[in-house]
Amino acid sequence: MNKRVLVKFSGEALAGAEGYGIDTQILDYIAEEIKSLVENGIEVGIVIGGGNIIRGVTAAADGVIKRTSADYMGMLGTVINGIAMQEALEYKGLSARLQTAIKMEQIAEPFIVRKAVRHLEKGRVVIFGAGTGNPYFTTDTGATLRATEIGASMLIKATKVDGVYDKDPMKYTDAVKYDTLSYDKALEDHIKVMDDTAIALAKDNKLPIVVANMNEKGNLLAIIKGDYSKCSIVK
Ligand code: UDP
Repeated sequence: MNKRVLVKFSGEALAGAEGYGIDTQILDYIAEEIKSLVENGIEVGIVIGGGNIIRGVTAAADGVIKRTSADYMGMLGTVINGIAMQEALEYKGLSARLQTAIKMEQIAEPFIVRKAVRHLEKGRVVIFGAGTGNPYFTTDTGATLRATEIGASMLIKATKVDGVYDKDPMKYTDAVKYDTLSYDKALEDHIKVMDDTAIALAKDNKLPIVVANMNEKGNLLAIIKGDYSKCSIVK
């Protein structure tokens, strides 16, 4: 079984019907899913995006805010989500630690890989905030980086879809889901599981990326136990 995994949630996933902000019921649902992993002896790292709060590219679109500043704003958004996730996990009785790529020691530990691994070994969930700590990157790249650093056996990208399709399943009834696909295939324009930087990093480090539906209860645990029927694997 996969003993240590990293799960990436997009910021938008937390927004619920509102489309922005944080829906605590969704947080609670995610925390319950994570709890089932911890109870099964799995060491869990989490990365959450910030798209429900701010995206650098969008915030910088008209030029009033510089891209680099907008990206730092985006990274701070992921920390807001990380604090919320930490609370939701503790509310469920789990032990959790938020570590950030940008120091803000009153709110979170700075990212230190050895410390993160120690927390994981003790059964604590570690949430990695502020992405990579650098502008022009995404939290998908941050997730790939952290997954590699902590020696996770897979990166699960928790999404709203069941996996990767050859064409948009919302538009085409004959769209076919891939069970597995290569990193090179995942880089193709119409597929784009993650941004190129994230996929290239995963490829270099032979880190499998599992694209799965987070709304399918129990799916994360099933995948980690080896049931890949409801996901796609990039490897
Ligand atoms: N961001 C960044 N560097 C990183 C990670 C994130 O600059 O290493 C910024 C970037 O502006 C991005 C925002 O944080 O748009 C929110 O992250 P992302 O868009 O990846 O969130 P998601 O789409 O997963 O919600």
